[in-house]
Amino acid sequence: MDTLHLVLEEFGDRDIYARVEGALGRTMTLNEVIAAEFLTVTTPLGEVVDWLLENARIRPGFAELAHAQRPLIVSSGFHETIEPLLEREGVLDAVELRANRLDPRPDGWRVRFRADHQCGTCGEPCKRQDLPQNDEVVFVGDGYSDRCAALAADRVFARDGLAEWLREQDVPFEPLTDFHELAARL
Ligand SMILES: [Zn+2]
Repeated sequence: MDTLHLVLEEFGDRDIYARVEGALGRTMTLNEVIAAEFLTVTTPLGEVVDWLLENARIRPGFAELAHAQRPLIVSSGFHETIEPLLEREGVLDAVELRANRLDPRPDGWRVRFRADHQCGTCGEPCKRQDLPQNDEVVFVGDGYSDRCAALAADRVFARDGLAEWLREQDVPFEPLTDFHELAARL
């Protein structure tokens, strides 16, 4: 589930969204892009959460996998928008969530980023630091913010933009379809 894009497409300013996405990785860091995008969202948080609960779908098999594996979820989304979905799926207590936080002001949502360190590899605050050091890491991702961490994982399941990027970099990965299939391959 990509709650960031869902919320921006429904409640954000599409022109600013298109413009800053084009600057991502060129003149703006990921966090700068996220901050600029969400400043255009002025809808009350409760309304946005209700809309997400109605419209956001999670890939099949996620609840079973979460209960079996108790995964760490590292997201550039927000606790305030992700936790209600985890609760809906009955997995809020089965996962550990590390995400950003929101200050959803009426004149534009401010993002409180959870990390402000610079990653030694990519130079931005990044998910790589969240990977466990001693275990075999199976990483599952789909987006720009997953790139650096995916390179550090032992095994990667990817789709969408992350899959395209890994293919360009000649980095091996397994395609992510749904979580039933993923569970069967672990
Ligand atoms: Zn990094």
